[in-house]
Amino acid sequence: MKKDCIYLDNNATTKVDPAVIEAMMPFLTDFYGNPSSMHSFGGQVSKEVNKARSQVAALLGAEESEIIFTSGGTEGDNAAIRAAILAQPHKRHLITTQVEHPAVLNLCKQLETQGYAVTYLSVNRQGQLDLDELDAALTENTALVSVMYANNETGTIFPIEEVGVLAKQKGALFHVDAVQAVGKIPLNMKNSTIDMLTISGHKIHAPKGIGALYVRRGVRFRPLLIGGGQERGRRSGTPNVPGIIALGKAAELELLHIEEATARERILRDKLETAILTAIPDCEVNGDTSSRLPNTSNIGFKYIEGEAILFGLNQYGICASSGSACSSGSLEPSHVLRAMGIPYTILHGSIRFSLSRYTTEAEIDAVIAVMPGIIARLRALSPFTDDNAAWLQEHEKTLLEAK
Ligand SMILES: *Cc1c(COP(=O)(O)O)cnc(C)c1O
Repeated sequence: MKKDCIYLDNNATTKVDPAVIEAMMPFLTDFYGNPSSMHSFGGQVSKEVNKARSQVAALLGAEESEIIFTSGGTEGDNAAIRAAILAQPHKRHLITTQVEHPAVLNLCKQLETQGYAVTYLSVNRQGQLDLDELDAALTENTALVSVMYANNETGTIFPIEEVGVLAKQKGALFHVDAVQAVGKIPLNMKNSTIDMLTISGHKIHAPKGIGALYVRRGVRFRPLLIGGGQERGRRSGTPNVPGIIALGKAAELELLHIEEATARERILRDKLETAILTAIPDCEVNGDTSSRLPNTSNIGFKYIEGEAILFGLNQYGICASSGSACSSGSLEPSHVLRAMGIPYTILHGSIRFSLSRYTTEAEIDAVIAVMPGIIARLRALSPFTDDNAAWLQEHEKTLLEAK
């Protein structure tokens, strides 16, 4: 296995902070007690779990009692959506967006086969929502509005509080997938319209397989997992203690670093983006540059394949992504960029750089140095032009339909 790389794929997953590993280690070795046990060996673990709960609560501006530990973002999203429909069985309508993570989108698609109506809000060319479209879609029958805080592929930030105000006016619950926002945007659940909010550990320098769901006090909740009644009956199963301790520590560090880290990442991201846009013709930024995560840059390069660019970068030990980690491996373009109506000539050649507090200026300079050469080489080989784009697009459509 190869260890060293210039890692610019932090929206897919992040490096675990050494301080997080140090905090969780004792709970993999000496302190293996079950926090639900009656003896003090388990009791001391339970105390540490609750300390982690208060660390996560502090990051979100929430109460400890409002935090449920989960196995990650996917479970949080599923638990929130299920809870909303189970708690309001008479309501049969959900609203989400076309650019959500598959954890939300694919559950909604399944619910459509089970008698629920789902509205998938569109986005414009910048990936931004139209609040009038949301307003028009809301009815008394809407159980839940589930909208992500920030998009994992483009970094576009949605006007979450405005969405929440509209949802509340019609009496709908409001869930926010904040997996990409947490640690990058200050969050405060006090005086917020958000009822439920999902976060995931491995996007904030904790390990994979741990996360949390915030549920506002007073919101009726129905658990996804039924069993021994852990997490005050809201999430059964013996808690992932080392993961929880890790998430607590990671949350503490995010809160500590958020201002200075995001300011640094923004400067490095902008340096990378400006250098690429200046040095390379026929490329553009995908996403809403006026409302965007500080660490994310999604750039579309005309006439070439994103996968070929990633392959070129990989040869220099640089890790980036063609959008979502979930859809990689398939050459089908990202559902997010498709929803934005990105022209066919750019759609296939889009890649995402996502930075973290570990990203250095030397790494950014190394990427800036190799990008023009990679793109020039691929363009020299590409048969793709504005003239044959329509034919290729038609051809792709038939391929997709044949699937
Ligand atoms: C990564 C991600 C998820 C899924 O989280 P997991 O912990 O990997 O299950 C959900 N939503 C968004 C926006 C994500 O980026």
